[in-house]
Amino acid sequence: MPDDKPDKPFDYGKTKENGQHERYPTMDKENKEFVRPVRQTYFHDRCRTNTSMGVKIAETYAKNPKYYGSTFCVACGGHFPVGENGEFVWVDDPGTGKPTEEKVGT
Ligand SMILES: [Zn+2]
Repeated sequence: MPDDKPDKPFDYGKTKENGQHERYPTMDKENKEFVRPVRQTYFHDRCRTNTSMGVKIAETYAKNPKYYGSTFCVACGGHFPVGENGEFVWVDDPGTGKPTEEKVGT
């Protein structure tokens, strides 16, 4: 039986002690144009803390802002919703380093 069905769920690996997954799906192999700036830092409204992510995930957001349904917060130690009604905004990065009005996932 083939084991590599295209609809096979993504393997996030182990959950680290801080609550983060070992790995996340990305679009790094897809040759798509960026439709948003590549930003690596976002701000969690609820705890008012910034979290930074790896460049592959940042580029995936820039290629497809709606790719992820939730994202990780280092302070809360868990994953929370992104999108129009989500809890995160982008940080102006590089730039002022301050939170923007732009919701992550929109
Ligand atoms: Zn948080």
